[in-house]
Amino acid sequence: MEGFREANMKEINAVDFEKEVLSGDKVVLDFYSTECPPCEALAPKFEAMAELYGEKIKFLKIFRQGNRELATELGVSSSPTLLFFDNGQQILDTISGGIKKSEIVDRLDKMLTAEEVKAIKANQKTTISEYDIAILGGGPAGLTAGIYLGQAKIKTVLIDPALPGGYMGITHQVSNYPGFEQPQPGFMLAHYMSEQAKHTGIDFKVAVDITSVDLSKKEIVIDELETIRAKKIIIATGTTPNTMNAPGEKDYKGKGISYCATCDAKYFVNKEVTVIGGGNSAVEEALFITKFASKVTMIHQFAKLTANQTAIEHLQANDKITVMYEHEPRNFEKRGNTMITTIEDLKTKELKELESDGVFVFIGFKANVSVLGDTLPEMDNWGYIKTNADMQTNLPNVYAVGDIISKKYRQITTAVADGTIAAMTISKEL
Ligand SMILES: Cc1cc2nc3c(=O)[nH]c(=O)nc-3n(C[C@H](O)[C@H](O)[C@H](O)COP(=O)(O)OP(=O)(O)OC[C@H]3O[C@@H](n4cnc5c(N)ncnc54)[C@H](O)[C@@H]3O)c2cc1C
Repeated sequence: MEGFREANMKEINAVDFEKEVLSGDKVVLDFYSTECPPCEALAPKFEAMAELYGEKIKFLKIFRQGNRELATELGVSSSPTLLFFDNGQQILDTISGGIKKSEIVDRLDKMLTAEEVKAIKANQKTTISEYDIAILGGGPAGLTAGIYLGQAKIKTVLIDPALPGGYMGITHQVSNYPGFEQPQPGFMLAHYMSEQAKHTGIDFKVAVDITSVDLSKKEIVIDELETIRAKKIIIATGTTPNTMNAPGEKDYKGKGISYCATCDAKYFVNKEVTVIGGGNSAVEEALFITKFASKVTMIHQFAKLTANQTAIEHLQANDKITVMYEHEPRNFEKRGNTMITTIEDLKTKELKELESDGVFVFIGFKANVSVLGDTLPEMDNWGYIKTNADMQTNLPNVYAVGDIISKKYRQITTAVADGTIAAMTISKEL
């Protein structure tokens, strides 16, 4: 990567560390890598922050692969990672991965006095950008729409509060996406799809805060200051896992209760795990968890699993998994490091305590519509957006694609198909 020329930002090497970072100034140091999508997502935000805060805080970048020893010494193990220093000391907590602008602002403000922060905020400028199409959501549905629109040379922006990929990015193995002889790691499919979309020339605004969405005005505000106006909007915001709303669930979310096996199963090597659910996701994820855990107990409310037959056969052949049918969780608590799940036998109403090292919950999903502002498209009884065969909603110039729409099957292939149809319809209309 070329050296940085911006007045308020400078690239350094390990040899400059003492002089540039430990000399007493207030410093934010960005360890970046090449071929690093979250680093690319961070770069424009870091630049904008440098312009705004640059007189008070020094903005430095350092190439991690070229300065490995220093990175290791500072405990930096992924890119990008931001470190903060004042008076030669490291301060605040580090941030890494898909870093949002608000997370940086939060820390920079803490490094300054209230007056300094006020003066800086007074200098902040709002921006407005105009696009033909704004795609909300960068899962397979949104990315595919982006690929087709980009190739049709239609001015498009793809917006996502996370990094692109959606669920695909956190699925350990995808074996049913056509074109690959062997199962593919989901994050690789996500990577290929988002790189393909980027190469078509569409703009990516990812790892941003969605401040507001107005589907009637076709206006989206991100990071509070940036307004995006579009002629048409494609909603591709997907779904969120259902929670059980059992006492203790919220308290132990991320501290013993997880909703993502790909993210967390690796922490359960030779441990015992409880899985709640009995559909496809629950069975497939339970099977994946057995690669790490010594024992998996599934809790399922019905007398039969609702997963497909192949998944059920794999489960039956796996002696690490047992299923407790017709049971439901009623309470979660932690004693020491042990998670205690109180379950009810639905036939006898008897309550039992089940001990494990961790709990995974896979009990279905709800559509992410609450983030779409006050004017919502027509929805079905389950809260999924209704569309016609061309992916148009009942709101003029608003389309919806992927898992968020009312349909029978929610897969990567069906999401990709929806994205294709919306983009091709739009290409003909514009
Ligand atoms: C654990 C698991 C395993 C799976 N395994 C398979 C499999 O093996 N094969 C298969 O075909 N399918 C699989 N699926 C289903 C498949 O992943 C989904 O059908 C598919 O990802 C749906 O794509 P999507 O683009 O509609 O939504 P998503 O993939 O959910 O992407 C939605 C995107 O929208 C973003 N978003 C959310 N809110 C906003 C907002 N306000 N503004 C902008 N963006 C927003 C999210 O950050 C996300 O990136 C699996 C699903 C799960 C949960």
